[in-house]
Amino acid sequence: MPEIIPINQHTWRIEDDGVRFFLLEGQQKALLIDSGMNTPNAGAIARTLTALPLNLLNTHADPDHTAGNEAFGTFYMSPAEWENYHEIHHKNGTLLPVRDGDRIDLGGRELVIIDLPGHTPGSIAVLDVAARVLIGGDAIQDSHIFMFGARRNMARYIESLTALWHLHREKFDTVYPSHGTFPLPPSQIPRLIAGAGDIVSGKCVGKHIRFMAQDLIYYDVGCAGFLCDPTFLRE
Ligand SMILES: [Zn+2]
Repeated sequence: MPEIIPINQHTWRIEDDGVRFFLLEGQQKALLIDSGMNTPNAGAIARTLTALPLNLLNTHADPDHTAGNEAFGTFYMSPAEWENYHEIHHKNGTLLPVRDGDRIDLGGRELVIIDLPGHTPGSIAVLDVAARVLIGGDAIQDSHIFMFGARRNMARYIESLTALWHLHREKFDTVYPSHGTFPLPPSQIPRLIAGAGDIVSGKCVGKHIRFMAQDLIYYDVGCAGFLCDPTFLRE
């Protein structure tokens, strides 16, 4: 059963067996950010918490973030994520494209979209402007960051986090991640940039593991772990 934990009067985190998603309320609208892994009823869960008109936004299309999507019909997502979404959900639902710099106003609560490609091509973060909170999806966390399989790109991941840090670091004091410790300080971002850089440069040596029926390399960079294809450094 997912656990619903209020963060404040108008913000909740829903803990779904290692995956976390969020409900944000403004004065006029509510927004569910991701729809969980084991929760096709994510929308119904949100409706127990808010009476406001409810929309859905996905930080990316991975299956642990989109279980409840099909009950919505429409959802905000980066258009760069459509191919990933299509593979999992077979074009069910209508993607409402959001791009870097787009604003969503929930009524006295403004959210800004920040592109963070790398973990997936259309990964995004959501800046809750007045709260000074960054909802970072899978890109910023201290657990296991999946970088194996199709369409993952470590160089873009490093570029994205570097741009985020240089352009937006003054705008938030806290990061809400989808996995691992909640919350995280912004200083996790330069740690992840350094850790990912150590993987690419060869300074951090990985170990071969078997995970989800695949041969992978696990890199423990101290602040998080990265799971990569054995061949990715040669590509
Ligand atoms: Zn995830």
